[in-house]
Amino acid sequence: MIVDMHSHFFPETWPDLAERFGTPDWPWMKHLGGGKAMVMLGDREFRPIYEACWNPAVRLEEMDRDGIDVQILCATPLLFAYMRPAAEARDCARIFNDAALALCAHRPDRLKALCQVPLQDIDLACAEVSRAMRDGHLGVQIGNHVGAKNLDDAGLITFLRHCADEGAAVLVHPWDMMARERMPKYMLPWLVAMPAETQLAILSLILSGAFERLPRSLKLCFAHGGGSFAYLLGRVDNAWRQRDIVREDCPNPPSSYVDRFHVDSAVFDAGALGLLVSVMGEARVMLGSDYPFPLGEQRVGGLVRGHGGLTAAAKARILGGNARAFFGI
Ligand SMILES: [Zn+2]
Repeated sequence: MIVDMHSHFFPETWPDLAERFGTPDWPWMKHLGGGKAMVMLGDREFRPIYEACWNPAVRLEEMDRDGIDVQILCATPLLFAYMRPAAEARDCARIFNDAALALCAHRPDRLKALCQVPLQDIDLACAEVSRAMRDGHLGVQIGNHVGAKNLDDAGLITFLRHCADEGAAVLVHPWDMMARERMPKYMLPWLVAMPAETQLAILSLILSGAFERLPRSLKLCFAHGGGSFAYLLGRVDNAWRQRDIVREDCPNPPSSYVDRFHVDSAVFDAGALGLLVSVMGEARVMLGSDYPFPLGEQRVGGLVRGHGGLTAAAKARILGGNARAFFGI
């Protein structure tokens, strides 16, 4: 069974959130005809998308084309609304969590979903992930930070513990990228800041000692191959050995914590994937594509399938075996 565990969706329509909440700059979709649409943020164009986002027939056809049996879909971080009042983010989460299940209902054996939660309010977030799990979600997609709070924040640790208790898998997705004022063009926030955001999220858990306190049963996966993490892990280990201020809350070498989380395979380069598998181990990398967005893998699974340096057994785990175990499919 081939499983793509990192893909996104948009419903074809959703309530006018600006009108509903009386606040501006909510995402909405401008349909352009011919299966094309533009995701809008207020009056600003955010991202061109196409029918596969909302039409399950198109999605399933492209899954068949790429030899994908199961796809796990989630909304996009654009809809998290962590910086808005928590009740608005909760309502927004419910709208898109229910829409995700409606999309999956077309082929429940092949389409699975991760929910979103109002992570700025830990009680509401825990309640929504519990509701979503009861309704059939496999877990939750969260942003890698909430404002100035990294994943080692006490409230976010409480949320992660709750996810472990619920058996909810957690996909950490970079969002709300740092230093945007220095990256006005060329999609630099996606190319530079997103990998750094993910690296920051992983290191915040490792260096704070959070993994010493979180249960091993927590199922945690970081998007985009963990961002810059694998490439720079040697630098982090060296810093941990050389400077007491690096290791003050982290009793073991940073590289010893790679058995506490997974990453997806969305790195778009054979050399990078080879490094990722050698750092994380073949049991901790899962096929993830970012389908059907422009920055996703255009033929899902192609990088893993065509890799010259991975054994057939490693490919089988990365293409599906690891995700089946991780998500309990
Ligand atoms: Zn993504």
